[in-house]
Amino acid sequence: MSYCGRFAPSPTGPLHFGSLVTAVASFLEARCHGGRWLLRMEDLDQPREQPGAAEAIIGTLRCFGLYWDGPILYQSERHDAYGAALAQLQREGVIYRCACSRTDIAAALAQPGVALDSNAVPIYPGTCRNGISGERPARALRVLTDDTEIVFEDLVQRKLRQRLASDVGDFVVRRADGPFAYQLAVVLDDAAQGITDVVRGYDLWELTPRQIYLQRLLGLPTPDYAHLPLAVDSGERKLSKQSGAPAVDCAHAATELWRALDFLGQAPEPGLARATLREIWRWALLHWDIQRVPRRHTIPVNINTRTP
Ligand code: GLU
Repeated sequence: MSYCGRFAPSPTGPLHFGSLVTAVASFLEARCHGGRWLLRMEDLDQPREQPGAAEAIIGTLRCFGLYWDGPILYQSERHDAYGAALAQLQREGVIYRCACSRTDIAAALAQPGVALDSNAVPIYPGTCRNGISGERPARALRVLTDDTEIVFEDLVQRKLRQRLASDVGDFVVRRADGPFAYQLAVVLDDAAQGITDVVRGYDLWELTPRQIYLQRLLGLPTPDYAHLPLAVDSGERKLSKQSGAPAVDCAHAATELWRALDFLGQAPEPGLARATLREIWRWALLHWDIQRVPRRHTIPVNINTRTP
């Protein structure tokens, strides 16, 4: 099967350096395989979206010369497909309605004298697996997990093994307030777009076994995965609108591209930083090697500097 990659930004803000790194790596990996590179706008979670962000991201990709193939897929136009997949899972008896709030889950897990780690995501104890008790309204749809070991080899990070029932618990595929969960949408969209290879940020590495599990339940293929180190600020926070990361500047596209290649371990020569955007792309397409990407979870960057 011929290579097909993708870039799937969430339009919650303009493109910052961290998302540029993902776009550049997924683009180069696809082009160096002679493959296609598709764009998907992950506008699933309307309240978190920023008006105009999708257009701003598209404009920035164009000014960097990151041209995608085919039409852009918008998740906001895919609700029928997500609903149909949930109906399939429901018919197969592998999802159930859950009425538990975070407080209910914390109470069910509480043990006398043991404080719950407030940062850890609790493993759902399966309270509603056999039906909702009492008059409580359903808040979410959860998928039934089992303890089969899911193993995947990452092209950049180490191999990951997870047993979903004990490591993660039954997870949400549709939230109480309506939106379909990212896990479900990403699996269906990758399959619908014929994606063979996913290159994305390390923050999604641990979620991948959930996606592989859903692919198996829905009879969909599993792509190959590569999770890139995350660009973080001096406080180890992922660059984002919330952490104050500035938008990448089209006026400095060549310098930003050089910095992205440097971040990705490609060792571009310092002199190349003064070359044109076209010349840097030419160099990158000749020299790109995903094996040189540092096998790290995070790499700190100075978000306020523009000089390489
Ligand atoms: N939309 C996600 C993000 O912007 C990426 C999802 C994915 O690549 O699977 O972080």
